Amino acid sequence: MEILASVSIRAVAMNKKLIAGSWLLALVCLTTAAFSQKTLIYCGTLIDGKSDSPFREMTLVVEGNKIVSVDKGYSKPGAKDVVIDLKNKTVMPGWIDLHVHLESETSRDGAVKRYTQNEADIAFQSTVYARKTLMAGFTTVRDLGGSGVNVSLRNAVNQGIVVGPRIFTAGKSIASTGGHADPTNAARKDLMGDPGPKEGVINGADDARKAVRQRYKEGADLIKITATGGVLSIARDGSGPQFTMEELNAIVETARDYGLQVAVHAIGAEGTKRAVLAGVTTIEHGSLITEEIADLMKKNGTYFCATITAGESISELAKLQGYYHPLVVPKALQIGPQDKAAFALAYKRGVKVAFGTDAGVYPHGENAREFGYMMDAGMPAMETIKTATMTSAMALGMADKIGSLEAGKLADVVAVDEDPLKNIKTMLKVTFVMKDGVVYKQ
Ligand SMILES: [Zn+2]
Repeated sequence: MEILASVSIRAVAMNKKLIAGSWLLALVCLTTAAFSQKTLIYCGTLIDGKSDSPFREMTLVVEGNKIVSVDKGYSKPGAKDVVIDLKNKTVMPGWIDLHVHLESETSRDGAVKRYTQNEADIAFQSTVYARKTLMAGFTTVRDLGGSGVNVSLRNAVNQGIVVGPRIFTAGKSIASTGGHADPTNAARKDLMGDPGPKEGVINGADDARKAVRQRYKEGADLIKITATGGVLSIARDGSGPQFTMEELNAIVETARDYGLQVAVHAIGAEGTKRAVLAGVTTIEHGSLITEEIADLMKKNGTYFCATITAGESISELAKLQGYYHPLVVPKALQIGPQDKAAFALAYKRGVKVAFGTDAGVYPHGENAREFGYMMDAGMPAMETIKTATMTSAMALGMADKIGSLEAGKLADVVAVDEDPLKNIKTMLKVTFVMKDGVVYKQ
């Protein structure tokens, strides 16, 4: 009854978005009710996430939450089967963004919010951002740092309470005192206190181990550290190293013991190099990497998420009077061109490029802008798509479950109306989203 009532209110509202929402409800019910039947998805064009060329006129067969086969031509449905007609669309595996912050979104009063928002406020808004992210075609994300609400958000999505992407979360980032993710930077002294490893601030190897174990205890899926200064922290330094080699080794070794990967915010060269030497999984931003570091990343198999979208957005926002703190503005103006150049360098040197955008630093749901920026920096369209499919699945250690449209994988499927190999901007207008075999947008 509740669902019926809400559907009729939505119809009266005559709001396109809301009507799409009620379609969604109907489809979700349809899919769950039809658990034993198969869903046949007719794909006019299919990009499987790992091949170099697209396939034409294919059928994806989905049963429960899995793809059971990928067939040539449009297969005939059985009596009970459901057909989804995407003959006019380009179908791809659900995209993966390895760097988002689902708890927050950029705003003029971002710095003040740290002292005015309760956890419940953060939780409510994070559900909106999670939904936007999924509807934009991103079926899996890594949440690289927030207050810890992101752990609960992941659980709520997994339980079906909140609509959102599959989330791998770092909980609260780990920093050093006064470092990029020290949550009390720029606060009044009595509010500053002295946060320690529990709060994600470490000094020394023992603290480092405790901080990692604390995150494991709190339910994080991975570890995020801020190995160098950062653009948006209210601090002068935007690039210097902020951990000793000893601290980095302690973090990586402890994380490894608990089966957690380590993602690293890294702007300046020295801190980036130290992190790569310590054996971290991914370098985020890498804004000032050198050829030497790129070669080291290639040798060590370190993945790179350039987050060009964040760099571009920050540099644009920095031009607005008073948008950022005065300490942030000079750093922010430089970061756009730096991130793009870093991406071009890493790509040219053969570093494994994954897909990460730092969503939240710019409005959620615009993650697909990254595809276009990667192309601007010299990467062909098909390769940009692979960064968000197979390569990111490998970086996550999830290559056996997501990242391509193959039998046995989870049914994460997205579609766009145009050919992205001819017009990459179509990636910003996703018209079909399935996650785990459930249709969320059509
Ligand atoms: Zn970030």
